[in-house]
Amino acid sequence: MTDANQDFQSCEDFLAWAEARNPGEHEFHQALCEIAHSVWPLLDDTPAYRDSRILERLSEPERIVRFRVVWEDDNGAVQINRGWRVQFSSAIGPYKGGLRFSSQVSTSVFKFLALEQTLKNALTGLPLGSAKGGADFDPHGRSDSEIMRFCQAFMTELCRHIGPATDIAAGDIGVGPREIGYLFGQYKRIRNRFDGALTGKGLAFGGAPLRAEATGYGLVHFACIMAHAADNTLEDRRVAISGAGNVALHAAERATAYGAKVVALSDSRGALLCDDGFDAEAIGRLKTLKLDDHGALADAADGAGLRWCENGSPWQGEFDVALPCATQNEIDAGTADTIVAAGAFMLAEGANMPCTPDAIARLREAGLLYAPGKAANAGGVAVSGFEMRQNSAFARTDRDTLDEQLKDVMAHIHDMCLEHAGQDNDYVTGASRAGFRKVADAMLAQGLV
Ligand code: NDP
Repeated sequence: MTDANQDFQSCEDFLAWAEARNPGEHEFHQALCEIAHSVWPLLDDTPAYRDSRILERLSEPERIVRFRVVWEDDNGAVQINRGWRVQFSSAIGPYKGGLRFSSQVSTSVFKFLALEQTLKNALTGLPLGSAKGGADFDPHGRSDSEIMRFCQAFMTELCRHIGPATDIAAGDIGVGPREIGYLFGQYKRIRNRFDGALTGKGLAFGGAPLRAEATGYGLVHFACIMAHAADNTLEDRRVAISGAGNVALHAAERATAYGAKVVALSDSRGALLCDDGFDAEAIGRLKTLKLDDHGALADAADGAGLRWCENGSPWQGEFDVALPCATQNEIDAGTADTIVAAGAFMLAEGANMPCTPDAIARLREAGLLYAPGKAANAGGVAVSGFEMRQNSAFARTDRDTLDEQLKDVMAHIHDMCLEHAGQDNDYVTGASRAGFRKVADAMLAQGLV
């Protein structure tokens, strides 16, 4: 293994060292590669970053907690799951990031998500550090009481590690308002505190209006600003979206409100296609089906305008804009080629790291506008920041004000990306450099901690 104390002569040397330190952590390495390549020139521009080993330090989370979660299912059988909280960086604020419940998680997945969150949170302009966590618990097919018992068992351990000035958790895949409610109830019961240690809470108990919608709405705001900057528009454009969860359905809702036509959505079983574009009423029904009733997208097919495609992809037919909003690495090189062939001029990421490096290369070669998730999906954490502000001030902000503030944050992130992007206006470079500079400068100011 390369000596950690040597000066790395190249980005590749650094990445070889990081890969050897984190064997088998493919998702984490993938996220680190993208960031390292983007920020490497900054180490020459600002030698203090190199001297203080900021990049090496940022490739190591401040803390990882992994724990056992034991609970009883509806048949009285004992179930054992694994929980995680990766507290990545507290350089610019308390740890902050979502919780994911999915069978497809690992230390690598939570580390990549927390690393992405570090730069994303910095880009918002809010004082938010970064974290991510969750469990290898699959909520599909579980009863409401099982979900509640699992959330209570999970929070019984997590509550030792979070708090409104320490680490603030929120939702992600498999964790929506229902789970946040159960998690908050258990947090409050054990800690005997009613505070803002969780965001995405119900409106009746400290939640902010618009938190549920914020990631999807913010994504569409960002895509609109990006399109306008390139003398294009989302109006009348055909938009294909993967996923049918919190991010996907709110992106569909806002895109439709802007006058775009959403022609595809998907879930883990297949794709729902609508050639004329889902209308607002159909999207409302899909929100009830997927977000409230936790049903299957297939059940929305009507044999007429809404066509179900079992195991099918949302990237079929012709469309102008692709919004991947399901999960990491859902778009490989082949899928990217399909998106290019469909005539798309833009891909903006609602999910975290949905495109593989090969896919990004194909999109760039084809000249698509490409918005990385750490910039385009930051609306959710921004409104979480507003919810934290509201909780600590014992106050409430109305929905319209928050919507304007969300638009301002997305516009600010877009400006930051272009300001740091370099001559080719590359949003990946811009997002990574802008976020990195903010975190790096805070780390320098705070000394070797
Ligand atoms: P949800 O659980 O609400 O929705 C996820 C959707 O994607 C579901 O429709 C799910 O299908 C589908 N999906 C998940 N995994 C797979 C898979 N492996 N293959 C096919 N489909 C899949 O999650 P969110 O909408 O909250 O999150 C989606 C993405 O957005 C994630 O990458 C998350 O990290 C990112 N994100 C979320 C934020 C938030 O505020 N929630 C903030 C920023 C980013 P099914 O319905 O069948 O389960």
